[in-house]
Amino acid sequence: MTADKNRSILQTEDLTKYILETSVYPREAETLKDIRNANQSYPMGFMGTAPDAGQLMAILLKLLNAKKTIEVGVFTGYSLLLTALSIPDDGKIIAVDPDRKAYEVGLPSIKKAGVEHKIDFIESEALPVLDKLLENPSNDGNFDFAFVDADKHNYWNYHEKLIKLIKIGGLVIYDNTLWGGTVALPEEAVLGHKKKIRQDALAFNEAIASDTRVEICVASIGDGFTICRRAH
Ligand code: SAH
Ligand code: CA
Repeated sequence: MTADKNRSILQTEDLTKYILETSVYPREAETLKDIRNANQSYPMGFMGTAPDAGQLMAILLKLLNAKKTIEVGVFTGYSLLLTALSIPDDGKIIAVDPDRKAYEVGLPSIKKAGVEHKIDFIESEALPVLDKLLENPSNDGNFDFAFVDADKHNYWNYHEKLIKLIKIGGLVIYDNTLWGGTVALPEEAVLGHKKKIRQDALAFNEAIASDTRVEICVASIGDGFTICRRAH
């Protein structure tokens, strides 16, 4: 398994390899390794959350005592299983992705880990699901945590909805906000297929930096984690 695929964009390959081999892989659950291995031969398998970023997310979930969470963008389930392993036995995750086939790749590992009962997988695009949750006022401020890792052009739409669903003091993590480092490159230096999402990331990063409802930290881990705390 190569370390460079998911390497943090601001780290050298050697340093990332060192961190993964010393501190991440030895502590990674076997069932998470199973999903990571399955991703190696699955189309677009590189989309699985970087394990070092996952380790940060697990610590945050535990610090927060997160019990009710939302995941937007499940794919084969690396971040979903990681979340399920980090919340208590009676915790619940609403996990949304239109791609059930990908979810089913990781499902045997989720079952093996004994955490399937925490997961409510909804085969759908995420916006209508979040809208439906918001129709019920008892869902306001009812969630501790959300992980957003899907269609990048909708990040701000997700943010506007999640900011209501997450409790004050709760966290939302947005993944890929540094988009391979392209946010800091001039447009002409960016490969064609990366330009559109670079624009989405630039707009989102600017908007969230001036959103007074939240406190933020952009961690250059994985492909960029924007950790966002609902302040009021
Ligand atoms: N968090 C995952 C990676 C997600 S990859 C992991 O750790 O492996 C992005 C996923 O977003 C894909 O599975 C894709 O099907 C899903 N996706 C795309 N558009 C979406 C939408 N509108 N709503 C929810 N999920 C979406
Ligand atoms: Ca991602």
